[in-house]
Amino acid sequence: MKPAPFDYHRPASLRETFDLLERYGDDGRILAGGQSLVPALNMRLATPRAVIDINRLPGLDAIRLAPEGLVIGALARHEAVERSPLVREHAPLLAMAMPHVGHEAIRTRGTVGGSLALADPAAELPACAVALDATIRVEGRRGRRDVAAAAFFHGIYTTALGPGELVIEVVIPPAPGWRSAFQELARRHGDFALAGLAARARVESGAIGEARFVFFGVGSAPLRARRAESAVAGRRVDSEAIVAAQRALAAELDPPGDVHGSPALRRHLAGVLLSRVTTRLVEGRS
Ligand SMILES: Cc1cc2nc3c(=O)[nH]c(=O)nc-3n(C[C@H](O)[C@H](O)[C@H](O)COP(=O)(O)OP(=O)(O)OC[C@H]3O[C@@H](n4cnc5c(N)ncnc54)[C@H](O)[C@@H]3O)c2cc1C
Repeated sequence: MKPAPFDYHRPASLRETFDLLERYGDDGRILAGGQSLVPALNMRLATPRAVIDINRLPGLDAIRLAPEGLVIGALARHEAVERSPLVREHAPLLAMAMPHVGHEAIRTRGTVGGSLALADPAAELPACAVALDATIRVEGRRGRRDVAAAAFFHGIYTTALGPGELVIEVVIPPAPGWRSAFQELARRHGDFALAGLAARARVESGAIGEARFVFFGVGSAPLRARRAESAVAGRRVDSEAIVAAQRALAAELDPPGDVHGSPALRRHLAGVLLSRVTTRLVEGRS
């Protein structure tokens, strides 16, 4: 299929972008990597009056270290994040997650800002952002504001972005002493996950001090499993601790069913992921 006709704009500055967003309102759509928007246009699931291509906005693709942490620009491609030595050193969880995002061709175009703004419940990056206690920096005509990742994802394809606002960058605070682990289960490599888990923990003498378990694909937004986190906190991780954490997790999960998997399957997979990831965190394996 071909898209419905639309005006095409390629602004050269943020100011020009905000002007266009104001002019078109809900009828203007930002184009970043286009890996989600272009199929939606072609299938006429989206029929905006204007497409506003932000690929030429200067400086938004940088990955840099700042006093506040690792800063990744909205236009950084998935592939750039995957290959970045700074990401590997300061946010290894992201480096582990990136190879699971679609296929290589998709990762060469798809952007960090696009994935965060889209907020697909089965996407890897939103869950990583929550697990990393990241901040999502957004900007509109009225200025910049910082939103904690934990408060950014409201539901299926729904975020804290206001009208006329763009995701500008994501800031990942330093976390010395934390280990990361990432696992997902999908029908085929490159598919969206049936269930996935982005995790971090402080591990001391074989025991987990503090943990972040953030699941994706099992709800309408990234799900921080606080009960499972509490079940392992301060404990040596043995089979008893893992069973306790799985029980705690079962009580806080209410996964959806669809053509890809039933709620029962997703619940089971989440428990398997929790066991694998907890073991890896303690053993220091990703
Ligand atoms: C076959 C296939 C498999 C895929 N598999 C996965 C997968 O396993 N995991 C996964 O996470 N993703 C997957 N994707 C999606 C891919 O990661 C996309 O790159 C991503 O979802 C959107 O990023 P984008 O830069 O392409 O955004 P676009 O498609 O350009 O835009 C997506 C949406 O976000 C908005 N937007 C984009 N940038 C901004 C911004 N800076 N500020 C505000 N709004 C913005 C757009 O207006 C649009 O509504 C897959 C895609 C395909 C085609």
